[in-house]
Amino acid sequence: MVGARGFWELVWPEVEGLVVDGARVVGEMLRIDAHGGGSAGLCPACRCEATRVHDVYTRRLADRPLGGRRVVVFLRVRRFRCDEVSCWKRTFVEQIARLTTRYGRLTDALARMVQAIGVAVGGRAGARLATHLGVRAGHDSIVRRLRKLPDPPSSSVRVLGVDEFAFRRGRTYGTILIDVETHRPIDLLPDRSADTFAAWLAEHPEVEIICRDRCRVFGEGGRRGAPQAEHVADRWHLLHSLTSAVERTAHAHRACLRKDVEYTVPEVRDEAVDLANARALIESPPPMDPPGNQILARTRQRHADVHDLRERGYTISAIGRVLGLDRKTVRRFATTDLDELLASARVRRTGEIDRFRAYLQHRFHAGATNAAGLFREIHEQGYRGSRVVVTKYVATMRSGTAVPEARRVIPSPRRITSWIMRRPENLGDNERSDLDRVLAACPDLATAHALAGDFAAITRERRGSDLPDWVARVLADGPQPLQSFAISLQTDWDAVVNGPTLQWSSGAVEGQVNRIKFLKRRSYGRASFELLRTLVLAQPP
Ligand SMILES: [Zn+2]
Ligand SMILES: [Zn+2]
Repeated sequence: MVGARGFWELVWPEVEGLVVDGARVVGEMLRIDAHGGGSAGLCPACRCEATRVHDVYTRRLADRPLGGRRVVVFLRVRRFRCDEVSCWKRTFVEQIARLTTRYGRLTDALARMVQAIGVAVGGRAGARLATHLGVRAGHDSIVRRLRKLPDPPSSSVRVLGVDEFAFRRGRTYGTILIDVETHRPIDLLPDRSADTFAAWLAEHPEVEIICRDRCRVFGEGGRRGAPQAEHVADRWHLLHSLTSAVERTAHAHRACLRKDVEYTVPEVRDEAVDLANARALIESPPPMDPPGNQILARTRQRHADVHDLRERGYTISAIGRVLGLDRKTVRRFATTDLDELLASARVRRTGEIDRFRAYLQHRFHAGATNAAGLFREIHEQGYRGSRVVVTKYVATMRSGTAVPEARRVIPSPRRITSWIMRRPENLGDNERSDLDRVLAACPDLATAHALAGDFAAITRERRGSDLPDWVARVLADGPQPLQSFAISLQTDWDAVVNGPTLQWSSGAVEGQVNRIKFLKRRSYGRASFELLRTLVLAQPP
């Protein structure tokens, strides 16, 4: 047990030389009366002890809340007279170490608390939160505290990641630097210029490797500021550029696919169409039921891919682009338990009727309205669901409440791109057959498909030495957008070859860029560059 004196030592364990005279509740406030102990003060100018008291007055200091109450310390302080002859200071006010600062109206501990609130939730939300915590701190005073945060101690960085971030609603750009090995942000630069980057690097001769995208600014700045460093073009950036080239190819060849569709898809309501043709026109020919473990393996792989990119700080949309999935799917894989995903994958296998809806509608409108007969037909085609489901579906068609199935549409360039950029084992059976149709209809897309697959394999398997061959093949017979991509690689060749060769990538930079976006949004874009920099560096994830 502690007595009254011991209790105050628990409240201010780091403070020495404070004598508490008493405490009482005044309205919402806990008032603590105290004074400095000891008979002498230390002159801040000459470091001599002074004992002559000039006068005494009371300071009010806000401290951390206690018992749910706002705390104000009424501190009686002495003004001492310095008697040292050589000292220019005639009087000074005593300070209690680790409790008070000159002119400060907050105790050190409360100042740190307000700072922590500001770092965690920002000025505006911080002011609201402070009220609930029993702390009086408005938006401005929180921001003022944040500005006083010191820079984190500068550490030496061996592998540097660099990228740009949009500043002030995207009109101007800044540069973010991170330590790729620790994923920590190191510094924020106020612009995106080769000069600024080079100047920063000149102060950091310890940098051995620079991971970056392929924008000219960082390449040039890096070569000037750190001639010793090796450059690595980030492989995700490379894949991203390749994806754009493939999408441009798909866009340029839409006409090839239109011809294909006109050839294979007759009008749905053509009564004369025979069964063989009917099978060709339904949205997707019923494939053999894939063994369950294949679907489950795909689910597992997709889950792992999504979480891998998520850890690198990719946004939902960015993951969708890289993996060729829509945002809804990505979000589901990012937020749902793997067990749950596997369970629903098992259920989806039983949602068999979906694959046959278009066929059933076609047959129904052609006059085959008998549920038992339709069940036999689709059973022969591989339907393994129950008869009841078919009967119910036929009933909805009879009552006119069935949703009309769309006829096969030309896949968009974006979809085609996502199929091409995905590993074949990650394609569903319908996607696989749709892609095959696309590739059969357009030789250029078939070439793009082969080249993109090889590039992805080179990247995945770290075979940077195979890149020259790949570029030569693209330049020999690749479609035009891929040729442009290959030519652009050659302007930054060393860094590009390092991308798929070395283990480093600047994936962590993207995470930090997203954090900057978040911090900017939190302050409604009103944070100055200095404040933004303080926040980014003060709060490493
Ligand atoms: Zn003095
Ligand atoms: Zn074509």
